[in-house]
Amino acid sequence: MAVRHQAPRRRRAPRRARVLPVGLLVLALAAGVIAALLPAPSRPTAGAATAVIQSRVIGRSVLNRPIIAYRMGEPSSPVKVIILGQMHGDEPAGVTVANSIIAQRQAVTGIDLWVIPTMNPDGAARHTRQNVHGVDLNRNWPDRWARLTGEFYSGPAPLSEPETRAMYAFLRLIKPRYLVSLHQPLDGVDTTDGGAREPALSRTLARSLGLPQKAFNCNSECLGSMTGWMTRYQKGSGITIEFGSAPSNAYLTGQVRLGILSAVRGRLASLSSRNPHAHIDRANARGSTVRFAGWTYEPDNHAATVAVKLYDGARLISTAPARVKRADVNRVYGLTGTHGFSFTFGARDGAHVYCAVFVNTGAGTGNAKLCRRVNVAGNPTGHLDAASLSGTDPASARISVAGWALDPDVPSTSIAVRVTVDGVVAVSVPANGVRADVNRLRKVTGNHGFAVTLPPSTTAAWTVGSPHRVCVVVPNVGPATGIAGSLGCRDLAISAT
Ligand SMILES: [Zn+2]
Repeated sequence: MAVRHQAPRRRRAPRRARVLPVGLLVLALAAGVIAALLPAPSRPTAGAATAVIQSRVIGRSVLNRPIIAYRMGEPSSPVKVIILGQMHGDEPAGVTVANSIIAQRQAVTGIDLWVIPTMNPDGAARHTRQNVHGVDLNRNWPDRWARLTGEFYSGPAPLSEPETRAMYAFLRLIKPRYLVSLHQPLDGVDTTDGGAREPALSRTLARSLGLPQKAFNCNSECLGSMTGWMTRYQKGSGITIEFGSAPSNAYLTGQVRLGILSAVRGRLASLSSRNPHAHIDRANARGSTVRFAGWTYEPDNHAATVAVKLYDGARLISTAPARVKRADVNRVYGLTGTHGFSFTFGARDGAHVYCAVFVNTGAGTGNAKLCRRVNVAGNPTGHLDAASLSGTDPASARISVAGWALDPDVPSTSIAVRVTVDGVVAVSVPANGVRADVNRLRKVTGNHGFAVTLPPSTTAAWTVGSPHRVCVVVPNVGPATGIAGSLGCRDLAISAT
């Protein structure tokens, strides 16, 4: 396994090379230049809306062209389905069907679906039934293989062709419950092979596609065919659908696309339902420390660890994968791997809007996003209850200040308060006095009161009558350091007697 998601490249249905008149060619080139300047909506890239979860090169043609399988639906579903658009390069209708499923703007649910537009890209490019070795890939399978020549040349041996081997290995790997193989132009739904094993599937397809049921027995017995091999050696049902020689595009991309998906038990859902699912369990602050935690998973990959980007408004704070184990989430949603995330960080006081962006991979319309408003109040707080000056002689006068202070980051700790006189620190003392009223009011424990007396002459030259400014400040503690809170100031003077 270990197949990483790739931005799926949209493959165009193989068509005959068109020769454009020169004037049209110039217009087409001009349009191409304009198109190059604009986002191309038909080509899903990372982050764009797509129903495809991943694409996988399952093998290569004789001329080294990739044979690509596009995964859609729900990988966790036990119902594996493969839709093969084309085996014969001159039968383009099934490629149109396959590409319309790949390009659809709705998610598939209920099945684990692989869509292979063509297993014969060389034949498609040359518009030949056979691959470039001239081998009919539907006669090259190791089931009742026989030497056939001409149009139905079966190759030198079973599985002699790289295209057949790629498909054979993929079928043995996926073991699909249903394999739908699209052909032209015999106009019908097969009643042999998968149609015989599962008559209801044949009936449902015939009814929903408006085609008759027919026994496609290759004029007597199908030798070395894919659905024959499927029926004989695999448990699932491999069924052939033959369209007419020129079915309309509207029919193939509408009725046929929906009819086949429904017949193989696929359901349609909104594409946004395939964005990451996420939940915020906690977004709050204690002091200036914010916790933002929750879980997220990718519905397209239940084992994947989703990347989470955390923003404070427009500012990216952090990017981290959801690496926290959440057994509860795994149990409820049937997940494996880790899906929890938890961000802890310091923040400045005030109201913040934190948004987590969950990065989408696989199918969906884009990233998911959840926001929470958090009020942060981590700066120190307190009150200057009293500040006074006693005495009339500068030599023996005393300044007294009292109040309380605490820091929400260390609510039970006694923090230091500083008394400044004219901006200069006169003394630093712990606010460690008992203040039951403060503890009750602020719902804290510990001691947070202060009362200090000091002589004014230690810090400044005091003279009778001229005031000096006495303040109490508290340095900040905790993540948002460096902010000193002021509890207040008083202008004090020694009064003349
Ligand atoms: Zn065919």
